[in-house]
Amino acid sequence: MDPLRSALADAVGERFVNSDPDVLAARATDHTTRYHGWASALVRPADAAEVSAVLSICRRAGAKVTVQGGRTGLEAGTVPEHDDVLLSTERLTSVGDVDGDELRISVGAGVTLATLQRTVTPAGLRFGVDIASRDSATIGGMVATDAGGLHTVRYGHMAAQVLGLEVVLPDGTIVRRRRRVGAENCGYDMSALWTGSEGTLGVITAVDLALHRAPGHCVAALAGFADLSRLIEAVRVLRRLDGVDAVELLDGRGLELASSRLGFAVPAELPWYLLVEMEGSCDCTEELAEALQRCDPDDEPAVGMDPAGRARVWAARDAFAEVVQLFGAPVKFDAALPLDAIAAFVDEVVALVADRAEGAIPVLFGHIADGNVHLNVLRCLDESVLYRPVTELIRDHGGVIASEHGVGAHKRNYLDFARSHADISAMWAIKRALDPDDYLNPAVMFPDWLRQPN
Ligand SMILES: Cc1cc2nc3c(=O)[nH]c(=O)nc-3n(C[C@H](O)[C@H](O)[C@H](O)COP(=O)(O)OP(=O)(O)OC[C@H]3O[C@@H](n4cnc5c(N)ncnc54)[C@H](O)[C@@H]3O)c2cc1C
Repeated sequence: MDPLRSALADAVGERFVNSDPDVLAARATDHTTRYHGWASALVRPADAAEVSAVLSICRRAGAKVTVQGGRTGLEAGTVPEHDDVLLSTERLTSVGDVDGDELRISVGAGVTLATLQRTVTPAGLRFGVDIASRDSATIGGMVATDAGGLHTVRYGHMAAQVLGLEVVLPDGTIVRRRRRVGAENCGYDMSALWTGSEGTLGVITAVDLALHRAPGHCVAALAGFADLSRLIEAVRVLRRLDGVDAVELLDGRGLELASSRLGFAVPAELPWYLLVEMEGSCDCTEELAEALQRCDPDDEPAVGMDPAGRARVWAARDAFAEVVQLFGAPVKFDAALPLDAIAAFVDEVVALVADRAEGAIPVLFGHIADGNVHLNVLRCLDESVLYRPVTELIRDHGGVIASEHGVGAHKRNYLDFARSHADISAMWAIKRALDPDDYLNPAVMFPDWLRQPN
């Protein structure tokens, strides 16, 4: 064993350091299978002290480290580019007591979202962020990317759920920023800094999270529209309703694919659909039906679907992420645009895809209440024919290129589409202050012109 791996084995135990080439090759490939890298070892520490030891060893040895949670990220943030040591959080799985009085819970960074949901549901509580990758996505990864998801219209992103963090800094120092009382303003909001930092400023090892009381009633509806502009007008009405907890855009083509994949029928005849859900302490079916009537959809909306019907529609929504992989890795865009720019953007992007990638199929869906639009281009083998022109189109329509998946390694050279040079330089100054060696997640977020100035 070489000296680096031997020191890592001393820190975490030999069986938690892996250098099997097949394991490393699999771990160095991202969820979409489009992006590949190179790693020298996989190390799985058990707690913050071991994470600290691993970071100190790697830093001293001049080895780069890439942090891996559930590896469901979609921007190649876990793909190592420098023969890195992969630091997995999968053993950081402590789950604290559910505090039903203060509505909070503390969990290890490696706990999956599904485990968190299973833990809090029996206490009549819910966690505010839900994403289709719940079975593998970890709470640490979700904080690191400031994940959004299906209920952002009501509960916001991860940043709104984080009450405190335990983080191991690049120099190995363990910082615990844990808020014990609701009102507190002693110094910088460091939790906000680490949230969305994508592993560039430290390894998150534990998180204190806010919980919410589970609603007594939930009602969902699916309404179809022939015209995207009219759907957007409906979004403006629906996102203002008290208790609305999801407003999802689904395109008919995606629903059709999802429906045949899942083996049951869901409406898919029209080009566009809105999946709307409301929750409350009493039945809000009538309220939702009235609001939808005002929006004048082009089919008879299925309101107040029974639990089985509701589960079917949500299964179809969840299946979008899977069906877009049907023809191999799609070209993915995680955009957010002002609502009044979305219809024109979609018209132009569909024309652009037809022009540049013959036979490719654009599928659109997203958390539309916040302007989020996921564009997946299926049957397009060469990402380079589309990536820059579509990204320019997003920018030119006043949109942002990273809505909820983060920048990762994939979009780092497009960061100046969304942030000014002064802004990027300020972020880089923070990065350099905490990680002067730039050894932690060295492929993530920052453009090459900063890292290789010459
Ligand atoms: C089917 C599917 C549906 C999805 N739906 C959504 C959605 O609706 N909304 C959404 O926001 N995302 C969604 N995603 C993307 C993905 O699930 C999220 O980005 C998620 O937050 C990533 O969590 P993870 O544990 O898999 O992180 P990883 O993929 O392992 O890592 C993501 C980034 O965070 C860093 N990181 C991971 N853990 C830590 C840690 N403990 N400390 C510091 N840095 C860390 C990594 O280095 C990497 O840069 C979806 C993905 C899939 C496959």
